[in-house]
Amino acid sequence: MSSPARVVVIGSANADLVVALNRRPGPGETVLGADVVVSPGGKGANQAVAAGRLGAAVAFLGAVGDDEHGELLLGSLRDAGVDVTHVARPARPTGNAYIMVTPDGENSIIVSPGANSAVTEADVDAARPVLAEAKTLVLSLEIPLSAVARAVAVAVELGVRPVLNLSPVAELPAEVLAVLDPLVVNEHEAAWLLGDEGEPEDFERLAVRLLDIGPRSVVVTIGAKGVVVADRDGVSTVPSPQVTAVDTTGAGDAFTGALAGRLADGEGLTEAARFAVRVAATSVTRHGAQPSYPGPGEVIG
Ligand code: ATP
Repeated sequence: MSSPARVVVIGSANADLVVALNRRPGPGETVLGADVVVSPGGKGANQAVAAGRLGAAVAFLGAVGDDEHGELLLGSLRDAGVDVTHVARPARPTGNAYIMVTPDGENSIIVSPGANSAVTEADVDAARPVLAEAKTLVLSLEIPLSAVARAVAVAVELGVRPVLNLSPVAELPAEVLAVLDPLVVNEHEAAWLLGDEGEPEDFERLAVRLLDIGPRSVVVTIGAKGVVVADRDGVSTVPSPQVTAVDTTGAGDAFTGALAGRLADGEGLTEAARFAVRVAATSVTRHGAQPSYPGPGEVIG
């Protein structure tokens, strides 16, 4: 029997259906695209695979349909050593992200949440024994907010550290925001939370302002520049190793998964972030989301 999970991820699993196009269709228009490439994705599954591939004991809790895409996602999670015992199989199709990629580098994405919408507070309650053994809980917002809020409440009750990536952005109840350790946001999500418009100011100042609205700690991801970490002890910038990026899809999830694994091992937030930026930088040098995530011997820097 495998050891109990130290990292629990409660979140989404989507099949990414990627099609390259010369230009995106306008209203009422049909355009022809290249062959569809199907790959495992969804923020929760990405985070779980990132942590699992690095050797952490991880359990993923979510929902996929009883269909081919569901099998693809479960296979990818299992290959990364993730415990999928608590993945529900509701009578809904697996979530899909329809990703149109155009030569200008812009992606247009439609997400059909499907089975992800069926994750409930009752599923979270059923996973209590798993959470009780864990050190870190990882959350993002591609599943119903009610399940996320319940998961945070149970984690706090059980002394598990909640890490939440506010993506896609949504208003969080104050009692949820107040216990996050850390809240992980990119610069756009940070601006949304603070109601800022225009170019972001100094990123360390941004992180401190986020700390002021409630969470125990904050990480702001700032792309190729790395991350800013802020907690009651202070604020600092953790620079990323310089790499040649070929595909940044899922880089934020690689960062969050790797961070959660190190926090579960008892590392401090800044130290864990130093490792996680190396993992995320490695992921952007390869194509895809989950396929780009490194094992322990492959992390650059
Ligand atoms: P995602 O691509 O998953 O949507 P995001 O937009 O939420 O990511 P970013 O801040 O762009 O968030 O990227 C997350 C992290 O990935 C960064 O903090 C950094 O550590 C790493 N990263 C992203 N782009 C690069 C890059 N070009 N070079 C090195 N590291 C990168």
